[in-house]
Amino acid sequence: MTRTSVALNRAYRAESLRRAAAEEFDVVVIGGGITGVGAALDAATRGLSVALVEAQDFAAGTSSRSGKLIHGGLRYLEMLDFSLVREALHERRLLLTSLAPHLVKPVPFLFPLTHRLWERLYVGSGLLLYDAMGGSKVVPRARHLTRTQALKLAPGLRPESMIGAVQFYDAQEDDARLALYVARTAAEYGAVLLTYTSAVGVLSAGGRITGVRVLDHERGDEIEIRARHVVTAAGVWNDDIHSWVSGRQPARVRPSKGIHVILPRRCIDSGTGLFVRTEKSILFVVPWGTDHWLIGDTDTDWPYDKREPAPTGADIDYLLSKLNAVLKNPVSRTDIVGVFAGLRPLVSAGEGTKTEKLSREHVIYSAAPGLSMIAGGKYTTYRVMAKELIDVAAAHLGRPVPASCTERLPILGAVGYEARWKERAQLAEQPGLAVSQVERLLNRYGSCIDDLLALISRRPELAAPVPGLGQHLGVEVAYACSHEGALHLEDILVRRTRVAIETPDRGRGAAREVATIMAAELGRDQDWIDQELTQYTQRLEAEAAAEEKPDDRSANAARQAGYGPSSWGRTPSQGAAAGGAYTDTGVPQ
Ligand SMILES: Cc1cc2nc3c(=O)[nH]c(=O)nc-3n(C[C@H](O)[C@H](O)[C@H](O)COP(=O)(O)OP(=O)(O)OC[C@H]3O[C@@H](n4cnc5c(N)ncnc54)[C@H](O)[C@@H]3O)c2cc1C
Repeated sequence: MTRTSVALNRAYRAESLRRAAAEEFDVVVIGGGITGVGAALDAATRGLSVALVEAQDFAAGTSSRSGKLIHGGLRYLEMLDFSLVREALHERRLLLTSLAPHLVKPVPFLFPLTHRLWERLYVGSGLLLYDAMGGSKVVPRARHLTRTQALKLAPGLRPESMIGAVQFYDAQEDDARLALYVARTAAEYGAVLLTYTSAVGVLSAGGRITGVRVLDHERGDEIEIRARHVVTAAGVWNDDIHSWVSGRQPARVRPSKGIHVILPRRCIDSGTGLFVRTEKSILFVVPWGTDHWLIGDTDTDWPYDKREPAPTGADIDYLLSKLNAVLKNPVSRTDIVGVFAGLRPLVSAGEGTKTEKLSREHVIYSAAPGLSMIAGGKYTTYRVMAKELIDVAAAHLGRPVPASCTERLPILGAVGYEARWKERAQLAEQPGLAVSQVERLLNRYGSCIDDLLALISRRPELAAPVPGLGQHLGVEVAYACSHEGALHLEDILVRRTRVAIETPDRGRGAAREVATIMAAELGRDQDWIDQELTQYTQRLEAEAAAEEKPDDRSANAARQAGYGPSSWGRTPSQGAAAGGAYTDTGVPQ
């Protein structure tokens, strides 16, 4: 049986705005990264009424810029943080098997060893523990390899860079996609989701927060959303929102920049990912799709603009030097097809502490009566973070609220995925798609592939690939607008697809055709197409300029030059400076 999923389209947005202004919600969530959308899903599936506001697109903050691993965290094992590792491995198992098997996949890593006996014992026993803590239940066990065996798996490695290796497994996903599908699942259970809508202040009465004032960037007007409890999952922006009620700038979150580069698969001759120890941290070389490697990352303080942290030339050279130290054939900047940076929302331990030493645990705290915040954590454990945050919100509602059920709640597209996978040859016959295309679609949409196939049967022209958009079809662009909440060109080129980091022209070649399909879906005109194209080109030019800069300060200045008029121009703190209803003196300081 096929069933249609909730469509995050223009009608949904209009209805969400109407409801947001009219209703009082049990919970309002600020932030539509993985933590916020996870919280909206957790709340909605406990029977709570919930609205979520996101200033940009879903996952446009850190949740589209991570290393894209769902991992137990071997690094945390080394820090003796056993409970974090156990929890992360549990979440990894759930995501791989029941919650999101369409979006989360196992990935092999080779861990080259450079010291003879002690390192093999040390790494081997760490991985044995990793397996014993739940790792090996869903992925193959770690195994020891001689140098000859390791080089068979990764012939591109310099033989003298190792004395042998251990192979182990973790899992990976496309972070923007998983967040989007968690959001869509929340919408299925009645959550009201508004993207391109910033919280610009809080409402208060009787000494407690009673809602948020939001700015709709699409229409340019403000509305008030009433809430019994407000939760903030705004990642590195948490302190800005906190300052609205504390009257000063708190320092709970310390943004730490991490960059990744994307290389074509041909650059590294290896059939496995690599996990290479460096003097500071770990270098990850992760297979990305069928054609690329994702290589990261760095870990440095970032005190500049939080919307678009900029990779510098120095960051890129650092990664390449670590990679070239183990490769037979070195790679250079000209091989790179994409670069991106994200900010870890680390819980601060005071100045002077190195960011790579900070804990990846999360904390939940009350900023004011009626306003709870979550900071820190990692993508892998988003579900647990969301559950704990809603537990706190529920405790303030003054009525019994059922326990979280997200541990048993498949993400949209998971139910029926396995059955569809078995039928993939038949699915390919129907619209005339290659089986490999159907497999790719299944691993992006799960059983929601039915929606796309139905669209193709009504409009067969959408089965064709969009020139310059990699393997993506016209139907994926149309569906991103009709069901996945895409409102701007960047939403598709940067997050629904990844052409902005997967093609040497960074999506330039596909931009006009994509904007044209979008305009037809969204009811936009030629002026809109031209404006979107100009903005996207400015973005690419600013990114390229930043990548040439030697340091963070100059890269930040170069990147900021690329903000267009419809960018999230009003940061929360600018909103606060503009004055408004949130400066209620009844809120305890
Ligand atoms: C380089 C790097 C690599 C990483 N690798 C991994 C990994 O491999 N595995 C892993 O598990 N974790 C990883 N992480 C960590 C993980 O990505 C983050 O912990 C996670 O994505 C944070 O999600 P979030 O929802 O808390 O924050 P975000 O994704 O940043 O979401 C916060 C959202 O709040 C919105 N917002 C802010 N202010 C407002 C406002 N006033 N009104 C409305 N909305 C607002 C922002 O636009 C943003 O979208 C990595 C992080 C980085 C930086």
